[in-house]
Amino acid sequence: MKLIRFGEEGREEPGVLLEDGRMINASGEFLDYDEGFFAMGGLESLAEWVGQGCPGGFEIDAGTRLGPPVARPSKIVCVGQNYLEHAREMGGEIPSEPVLFMKASSAWSGPYDDVLIPKGARKLDYEVELALVIGKTANNVSEAEAMECVAGYAVFCDYSERAFQKEHGGQWTKGKSADTFAPMGPWLVTADEVSDPQGLRLWTKVNGELRQNSWTKDMLFGVSEIVSYISRFMTLLPGDVIATGTPSGVAMGMNPPRYLQAGDLVECGVEGLGELTQRVVAAR
Ligand code: ZN
Repeated sequence: MKLIRFGEEGREEPGVLLEDGRMINASGEFLDYDEGFFAMGGLESLAEWVGQGCPGGFEIDAGTRLGPPVARPSKIVCVGQNYLEHAREMGGEIPSEPVLFMKASSAWSGPYDDVLIPKGARKLDYEVELALVIGKTANNVSEAEAMECVAGYAVFCDYSERAFQKEHGGQWTKGKSADTFAPMGPWLVTADEVSDPQGLRLWTKVNGELRQNSWTKDMLFGVSEIVSYISRFMTLLPGDVIATGTPSGVAMGMNPPRYLQAGDLVECGVEGLGELTQRVVAAR
């Protein structure tokens, strides 16, 4: 299944994208794709409803805004330097354990929303990533148990302001958390439809130019290892989002760096999961 949310920012309603391309409003049956939905077996109920032909559902108007495919999560946990070539281009050491950082959930954004250049920003960068959404509570789960906790996958862009991230001391959180810095979508593809999350191509284009082009098999730590590892340090709640790291080709890794400018068009994709499209605009 492919889960979507549609409507005005902050007031999205749940829906599904069907195999035939139709988008169906599911708000008569489901409140939202949030922690409660996943915790209470919502995915199973939704599959049943879709299997019955979406009774009471109606088609969503073409042109309706799509929001992020799940409600704003309790947390967005990101893995840093999880691709060898990216760790090298950033000048970091090759991590022996997953590098973790948090991104403010207020950065949550839709798949086609503008990305806003924050006030004072000079070094806006893109990072395409495979994201996963947690489907059931994970605390100290083994790698074998970890995949049972994954509801599905989506494309994520970990927008980053490198001066905020690296030139102001302390943690990376400063450069990762501005409004609109966490777009996800365009839909959540349920885990049963992703046979191998480590076998997907992922890419970024800026104004049509291919900047990132890699494979999830190049991750240093794979999805099951990441989920298990994070769950040692915090409880992952249903609906939480994990971004699994970006491959090489980011603006900061270029010589000279080619940071994003107002007016740029950024497209991030993961094979089989769709594509995000953001226009870069100065903060309003
Ligand atoms: Zn990242």
